[in-house]
Amino acid sequence: MRQRIELRDITRVFEDGGTQRTVLDKLNLSVAEGELVAVMGPSGSGKSTFLSIAGALLEPTSGDVLLDGKSITGKSQQELSDMRLHKLGFIFQSANLIPYLKVEEQLLFVAKQGGLDKSQARERAKGLLEKLGLAHRRSAYPDKLSGGERQRVAIARALMNDPAVLLADEPTASLDASRGMDVVRMIAGEAKEQGKAAVMVTHDERVLPLCDRVLYLEEGRLVQR
Ligand code: ADP
Ligand code: MG
Repeated sequence: MRQRIELRDITRVFEDGGTQRTVLDKLNLSVAEGELVAVMGPSGSGKSTFLSIAGALLEPTSGDVLLDGKSITGKSQQELSDMRLHKLGFIFQSANLIPYLKVEEQLLFVAKQGGLDKSQARERAKGLLEKLGLAHRRSAYPDKLSGGERQRVAIARALMNDPAVLLADEPTASLDASRGMDVVRMIAGEAKEQGKAAVMVTHDERVLPLCDRVLYLEEGRLVQR
């Protein structure tokens, strides 16, 4: 099976007032197409640091990240930004939608950044909105949507440029149990159907049965319990 994202021996050290703190310590992870992996761990264990490195938003002190087998080490800021746009889809705790854009426009906006042509983008946005049960909301502004709807728009937006990898940081934190399950079901479904790799940081025990693997961030590494 194709590994869509690999973290190899990732170490990250933070300087903190003269003392050094090793937050990630030779962490390894490979996620294959179709897989949804949950990452858990107490506050301060390094989950956000891990996800930022996986998402090419933060450089590791040492180690390498591979996206579709390609190393991101030594890439220029421009190349990293292109990789983020084309290879990675981010879903955050709050949907972070742009308040003055309608639902459909949120999707077209990222498609434009990703260089998709207009008619292709419209087609793709239409398909994703239908699939995520948002077709009737396409002309709504974010403040008219429920929390669950907003999070579904965020998923559609993350999928717009057909990324290899979906990275989600507590995507269900602001949702009730049933909406939370729906959102994670959609992420798992996309991974399965489209051969994407998905990594989700979560505190939400209820969604774990929907994940292929559950890993814990302990002493700077990911372990299976
Ligand atoms: P989590 O997301 O699991 O709560 P984080 O990755 O945010 O954990 O943080 C892990 C540790 O790294 C914490 O002790 C935090 O204080 C430290 N840390 C995170 N970012 C920085 C930074 N930019 N500078 C210094 N220390 C940091
Ligand atoms: Mg965090």
